[in-house]
Amino acid sequence: MSREQAISRAETYFDDGLFFDDLARRVAIHTESQEPSQTPELYRYLTDEMTPYLEDMGFSCEILPNPVANGGPFLVGERIEGEGLPTVFTYGHGDVVRGYDEQWDEGLSPWEIVKKGDRWYGRGTADNKGQHTINLAAMKAVLAERGHLGFNVKLILETGEERGSPGLREFCDVHKDRLKSDLLIASDGPRLSPERPTIFMGSRGVFNFSMTLTLRDGAHHSGNWGGLLANPGIILAHAISSIVSSSGEVLVNGLRSPEAMSNSVRAAITDLVVDGGNDAPEINPEWGEPGMTAGEKVFGCNTLEVLAYKTGNPSAPVNAIPAHAEAACHIRYVPPTDSKLFIPALRKHLDDKGFSAIK
Ligand SMILES: [Zn+2]
Repeated sequence: MSREQAISRAETYFDDGLFFDDLARRVAIHTESQEPSQTPELYRYLTDEMTPYLEDMGFSCEILPNPVANGGPFLVGERIEGEGLPTVFTYGHGDVVRGYDEQWDEGLSPWEIVKKGDRWYGRGTADNKGQHTINLAAMKAVLAERGHLGFNVKLILETGEERGSPGLREFCDVHKDRLKSDLLIASDGPRLSPERPTIFMGSRGVFNFSMTLTLRDGAHHSGNWGGLLANPGIILAHAISSIVSSSGEVLVNGLRSPEAMSNSVRAAITDLVVDGGNDAPEINPEWGEPGMTAGEKVFGCNTLEVLAYKTGNPSAPVNAIPAHAEAACHIRYVPPTDSKLFIPALRKHLDDKGFSAIK
């Protein structure tokens, strides 16, 4: 009985516009973690917005500094109902990517929610202010109905996710005992398709690295030196092509998953339809690991991407052999891959192929 009433409370919360109000207040805070000047907004989100809301639900809250220099603050919340009860750990991030105010369509703004058709526009509505607002409101509805949850809750709200979560790992390590919990339930990331609510039981790891090649100081005129000076842009391109094929298949053993996919994993993901909805890009079926389904490729396989590549000055090329080339790359990986082995494997591969000068 109280279950239905809690659900109906949650529906009323949405239908009466109270969810909109809570979310709009949060979206209005300019928590752009990639902009150092917005650091006060990160604090404001945690202290002025989230702390009172959480304290009202019976959480004790503390804002703690990031163990890493220049990292944003953390809010740790605890709501302990009783010793011996299971403890649910939940997570959210209060920061958003840059607003890019001038790039929004007429009538839209990153800092104000605007309803247009079935959609709500505003920075953070779908990542991650919307999600943690929903999860906390769900708990609030249960509390309003039952007066208790039946479990303890520990919460981390971080403010640097959109910068790669600097200090999150170190923070969790330092506060390991305090954060100890039985189960993590959190919402961030996409659905399989917009129409299909999705529960992920895990996600691929991510390992970022860059490759750089500097051969000399400064660029040199190609009329005088072309044919004599090695070109770092060309060499780095060849190095990349030895690591990943022209159809996206990872070619270096130490970067691939060391084990074939288990039958249970295969059975769970083989038939998953990956569909990002109307705005999604068209999938390239020939791309990636040969012989795998789309679900297997994106959920059960190691993949390597070049995220950015630069040599010379692409926005203003000159007739010269550049001195330097660099590529920002990353690997998404599945268990039992050990990411600590990536750099040694990559180093050995580059050395074996004659690319020792690449760092
Ligand atoms: Zn997110």
